[in-house]
Amino acid sequence: MNIKEIIEEFKGLFYEKCYVYKDDTLILSKKGKHSYIKFTDYEIERVKNSDLLIHSHPVEDWSLSNSDIGFALECNIKTIIAITPKNVCIFKIKDRFNLAFLEDINERWYTLRNYKYFYIDIATDDLNHHVLLELVSDFPDYFEYQKISIREFKGKV
Ligand SMILES: [Zn+2]
Repeated sequence: MNIKEIIEEFKGLFYEKCYVYKDDTLILSKKGKHSYIKFTDYEIERVKNSDLLIHSHPVEDWSLSNSDIGFALECNIKTIIAITPKNVCIFKIKDRFNLAFLEDINERWYTLRNYKYFYIDIATDDLNHHVLLELVSDFPDYFEYQKISIREFKGKV
């Protein structure tokens, strides 16, 4: 896939859209509404254990949301990216992570432990950027997160 071309396409959109890849093959693309994309049971099964979900956050410069991260964890998607009007927000789940770990983590990450998300959406504010920075600093063995301006993004994740 060419992420830079996807970013160009997303620039003109006023709704969310996603592309999902496994082994460099496109396995799903879907249009959503202006602030979310809902998936069918069939689509959820299809995206399980995929490599990359990239989607647009067209409304504001809001990073990955709770539901974005929860969906990636539930479906075991290795990398989830949100493209805002200004930034590329990249969250990676490392190989050694497994869902059982969520049972043991402390109250600070209660929302991640208890949510089962079957959709992706836009966070209600930019708080999630800071929360994600804290999450990866608490659990560097399991997660990676970065926010890069579109201008500086090289196209590789
Ligand atoms: Zn999102």
